[in-house]
Amino acid sequence: MVSKRIADIPASGTVSLSNLVSSLRRDGADIVSFSMGEPDFETPRNVVDACIDSLNSGFTHYTPSAGIPELRKAVADKSRRDNGIPCEARNVLVTPCKHAIYMTAMAYLDPGDEVILPDPSWVSYEACIRAAGARPVFIPTSFDEGFVLDPRRIEEAITPRTRMIFLNSPSNPTGGVLPGDVLKAVAEIAAEHDLTVMSDEIYENIIYEGSHASIASLPGMFDRTVTISGLSKTYAMTGWRLGWAIAPEEGIAALDKLQSHSISCCVSFTQPAAVEALSGQQGDRDRMVRKFKDRRDLAMDLIEDAGLLMCNRPQGAFYLFPKYDLDMSSEKLSERLLREAHVAVTPGSAFGPSGEGFFRISYAVGEDQIREGFDRIHRFLRGL
Ligand code: PMP
Repeated sequence: MVSKRIADIPASGTVSLSNLVSSLRRDGADIVSFSMGEPDFETPRNVVDACIDSLNSGFTHYTPSAGIPELRKAVADKSRRDNGIPCEARNVLVTPCKHAIYMTAMAYLDPGDEVILPDPSWVSYEACIRAAGARPVFIPTSFDEGFVLDPRRIEEAITPRTRMIFLNSPSNPTGGVLPGDVLKAVAEIAAEHDLTVMSDEIYENIIYEGSHASIASLPGMFDRTVTISGLSKTYAMTGWRLGWAIAPEEGIAALDKLQSHSISCCVSFTQPAAVEALSGQQGDRDRMVRKFKDRRDLAMDLIEDAGLLMCNRPQGAFYLFPKYDLDMSSEKLSERLLREAHVAVTPGSAFGPSGEGFFRISYAVGEDQIREGFDRIHRFLRGL
């Protein structure tokens, strides 16, 4: 009954793994889960209170489809100030980050178009590109090069059908941050070949070394970039489903059209709380980032001490992407780790062909869980 286009798209590997973990836990299994990209912290109190206030004041009806003006302005102000993106409120559409990516694919791509994206990269890009009838063109990146995208390989992959380049920095799954010279080279390629860039910056604030740069801040790039980000990771607000897209007005009009025909608007009473998240105190956010850094350091120490896995030191996000030395697919290894060692990790192959031979660990869990999880992984590997 379903269309071929959708039937051919695999279900989200990360979400189905998390469903399996939930069902094993319901059956009483003690699972350490490194599978979900979700902070374990609570949403900051000032944000929760702002939401309760808006509910109590009866702010419970439809909002404008692109979001309440105060939130569009707060996003634009933050993006001009922190990211150097030359945008105004009219360039902002409020929508869950994931929906922003899906709608960008729908709004900017025609069937047969090609989209260049790094391999490995986040699981849903390929699905969104395919749902739009377009074709993903993966650019392999390697462990030895720290998974940094090589602009020369982008240039070689361009054909008359290429329409977009997808970027994600800091990266899920590798935790890598794109260096400024690579962003600049990608911007030059986009301008030369008249391509649009979708820059997914959802981990922009979770960065430990170096700094975050938005490609839309580079000269001339605002006009050809859709910048996507949101509150989920920075403010531990995954369940609030709030993010945004920033684009030239023509792009925002197209996304707004899709939004108005799909979800109408985001939930109303969360939007004033999002204004509070962006404009209120940032102490909780900064504390969470410091905690993530401690956890990264702990996890890297555990890996290095055991000497069984190889791993680049991630500069951002909350993922490790270790390489293992076994004649076993990453899917098989992940399945065995879950069933035999009771640790949930995500197989590297879920993120593209270059992810084979790796698995992803989300260290957005407590330090006890990190110690216990690595203990189980190392014991399992030693026992093989
Ligand atoms: N982009 C990346 C790279 C992600 O890791 C995620 C969440 N796992 C998203 C987008 C989606 O974010 P949200 O849950 O805010 O829609």
